[in-house]
Amino acid sequence: MDDIKIMVKTIVNDNGDEFLSAEIMVDEILLTDKYLVDYKELIRSVRKDGEYFILTCSCGVSPCAGIYKGIEGEQYPFMTNL
Ligand SMILES: [Zn+2]
Repeated sequence: MDDIKIMVKTIVNDNGDEFLSAEIMVDEILLTDKYLVDYKELIRSVRKDGEYFILTCSCGVSPCAGIYKGIEGEQYPFMTNL
């Protein structure tokens, strides 16, 4: 089983606007230095089993970043939905 860590932090731009940023690490390898997180897919993945394209290209099209297979999300009875 892979060790997956998701770290969410707040980023403030020069205008003082706040944004959420997520970093995803799998087995201590940072994935979000090359890809962006599709938050809609991330939230859907914790609600229902299935394949989700959580990592994507900056244009929002995963195959554009060479991602042709999504991440399998699986639900466990002890987990709490967002
Ligand atoms: Zn792209």
